[in-house]
Amino acid sequence: MTETHEAPLEPQGSDERELFVDFVNTLEFEDGRPVDHVSTAADLRAWLVDHGMCGARLPLRSIEADAEAFRDLRSLLHEVTERIADGSAPAPAQLRRLNDVLRDGMHYHQLVPDADGTSYTVGHVGDELAQARATIAGSLAHYLADHDLRRIRVCANEGCRWRFIDRSPAGRRRWCDMRTCGNRAKVARHRARARGVSA
Ligand SMILES: [Zn+2]
Repeated sequence: MTETHEAPLEPQGSDERELFVDFVNTLEFEDGRPVDHVSTAADLRAWLVDHGMCGARLPLRSIEADAEAFRDLRSLLHEVTERIADGSAPAPAQLRRLNDVLRDGMHYHQLVPDADGTSYTVGHVGDELAQARATIAGSLAHYLADHDLRRIRVCANEGCRWRFIDRSPAGRRRWCDMRTCGNRAKVARHRARARGVSA
């Protein structure tokens, strides 16, 4: 299996990626317009395969049947990260929803002898896609339990709202990317100042 790496999003240079951040940003905003990168079953499957959470041959109709559950999880992650970035704690109802997703991903393995009695197969009991959702939800759960919550940020560009983890030493990053959103804000401030001077 070959691995591809995208250009790092964070100029300060940690390549550690959080799964919940990757998933929540599959719905991104370009100048305020939503762009859903996993809007079709094929796209969602490709995303899950890329992140090692399902087989490439999982039937698209299975993905289709679970599409809404994935969208619900993503909305939940949007809401929770928004609250945390605003300095609030997740609401009790949000914690319950998150814990439901974690519980629904329950699975286990079974060792099954093959017909000839001399070889074995490891069977998997549990819903593969529910497990994928639990893995994504688990990434947020572990992050909240083990890390500084104040590092979860929503990009200050109103038209972007990308979620990111601020890994800068000072912990004061406001934009998902200085070269795009940060630069746009700087240009806007500069223009406003210029207008102020000419008025
Ligand atoms: Zn941004």
